[in-house]
Amino acid sequence: MATSRTGTAKWKGIVRRRRKVAQEEGITHCPDCERLLDYDTKRTPSTYRPDLVEVDHIVPAEDGGHDTFENSRVLCSDCNKKRRSRERRPAPRVVVILCGPPGSGKTTAARASGLEVYDRDDPHWQGEAHFRAAISQLAHRPDGQAVVIRSGATSSARAAAARLTGATHVYLLTAPRDELRARIAGRGRHDTAGATRGVDTWLKQYDRDDAVPDFPDWPTIWQTTGNGNGNTQPTVLGAGPIATSRAW
Ligand SMILES: [Zn+2]
Repeated sequence: MATSRTGTAKWKGIVRRRRKVAQEEGITHCPDCERLLDYDTKRTPSTYRPDLVEVDHIVPAEDGGHDTFENSRVLCSDCNKKRRSRERRPAPRVVVILCGPPGSGKTTAARASGLEVYDRDDPHWQGEAHFRAAISQLAHRPDGQAVVIRSGATSSARAAAARLTGATHVYLLTAPRDELRARIAGRGRHDTAGATRGVDTWLKQYDRDDAVPDFPDWPTIWQTTGNGNGNTQPTVLGAGPIATSRAW
């Protein structure tokens, strides 16, 4: 029979030790809500009271936290219950299409998001079809949290990428031609000439008929999606007239 992590013998040992250590350290009140803790009544389904002591993972298992003494702490039943229900709430879906020419900093910006990054330049993709198949799966993931890097010089290319992935946000990252070229030269890679041509091609095709917004910053996007404050309803395309002018 499968056992939950909190039911393992190791974790039970940690719970006992943490309770003992917390009492020795004089932790008499809940560190979160400061209510007086009851160490003596054992928590069972019928004895539930908000002030009973429970031992909690500091970093939740879902976030990669381990069953270790260092990752444990005491907490009152009420705070532990609230914390668990908060953790179970699904995170808002965020699928960002980030477009721009070579040298615009898409990859750096995407990696700074902490989201899953889909980058066509990543060598593990076996061609465009493989990449497209992977990103099209995002459209079927209600809990999707990803940023997809696309060239997206044209309105139609951006709309197609957004449709394919069921994107919640589409942004553009760009810079003046000279700056893009300088950045590419500064990388000192062997593909400098090709990348420089890529800048020219991109700028030649470029249109902004869809009024796609400039990439703001991640905190702004989290705000528009309500990430972190318990709001599970993302505001689709929080900024920019693209939301109303295109029926994605
Ligand atoms: Zn508490």
